[in-house]
Parts: sequence; structure tokens; C-alpha cells
Amino acid sequence: MKLGVYPGTFDPVTHGHTDIITRSLRVFDKVVVAVAPNPAKYPLFTLAERLDMVRLVMKDIDGVDVTSFEGLLVDYVERSGAHAIIRGLRAISDFEHEFQMALINRKLARNVETVFLMPSEEYSYLSSTIIKDVAKHGGSLTEFLHPEVARRLQERIRSVAL
Ligand code: ADP
Repeated sequence: MKLGVYPGTFDPVTHGHTDIITRSLRVFDKVVVAVAPNPAKYPLFTLAERLDMVRLVMKDIDGVDVTSFEGLLVDYVERSGAHAIIRGLRAISDFEHEFQMALINRKLARNVETVFLMPSEEYSYLSSTIIKDVAKHGGSLTEFLHPEVARRLQERIRSVAL
């Protein structure tokens, strides 16, 4: 049973994340989506809200568990008995940061591998940050987000602007 952990902030979950999860299920028997609190990124949604949206989007996909974790990712990965960390690689801009994190994580835990997956081209420019910007300026979200996630994002942006 090959278990992979897909960590992230998921503020909010996009079709880019879903694409990576679907691809990772071709490599792993089971994938745990691990939502990080990440207060340093000042998320727009609380941890509970982000978890709820990932659960909603993943509800019909078999082999996916959704949870949150605190502290060092590699500690969580070792505790959960997972075989690898899954990360998505978009354009070249992701590479340096991801490379650095993978090597640090390898130093911290020799037996934990990081596996990178590339999304479909149509999502390779997509990020939660850009999506929040599109939402702020009233752009259409239908191609990038689950409809309920889009609705919650628009509602949150409106209430923050008030
Ligand atoms: P983090 O704060 O850990 O980067 P994110 O939620 O932004 O969390 O992203 C989680 C993971 O998903 C990262 O590996 C990121 O590169 C990847 N990811 C995010 N959006 C996409 C996308 N559109 N295509 C592929 N991978 C993505």
C-alpha cells in the first residue's frame, strides 16, 4: 500500500490542486491531503474552512483522505507511515523554492522522498494567490474553482471589502 502526503495551504483549493491529486492516485494507492495552518501566509480562509472546501471537492474521489497537520511536515509524514511527499510543479518559478524544500526535508528525514508532478497545461499558470486577485476584481472563476468554492471565495472577498 503506497501512501503519499500532499501538503499545502489550499487557500482555497483550485482545479490545479485537484489535477495533482488525481494524477498522484496513478502513482499512490492512497493520498492524504494535509492542510497546513500556515499563519505566515495570512490565509483568507481559516484552517477549518480550507479543510471543509478540500473535503467538499474530494468527496467523490476514492483513495483520498483530508486532514491537517501542525509542526514539521517530515515529522507528520514519518508519523503517518507515508512513503513520499507529493508536490506540484508549475512554471519554472516553482522550481527553486521546491528544490530547496525537498533537499531540506531530505536532510531532516533521510527516508522521506519528494515526488513532483506536473499539472495539465491549462492549470500550469494557476495559483490560489492569482485566483484571489481575479476574484477581487470581479473576474470569472468557473474555469478554476469548484462552484461552491467559487461562491465562498466571492462571499469572503465581499465581506473583507466591507
Ligand atoms: P504551499 O503554501 O505549500 O505552496 P499551496 O496550496 O499553494 O501550498 O500549494 C500546494 C502544492 O500544490 C504546491 O506543491 C504547489 O506547487 C502545488 N500547486 C498549487 N497550484 C498548482 C497548480 N495550478 N498546478 C500544479 N501544482 C499546483
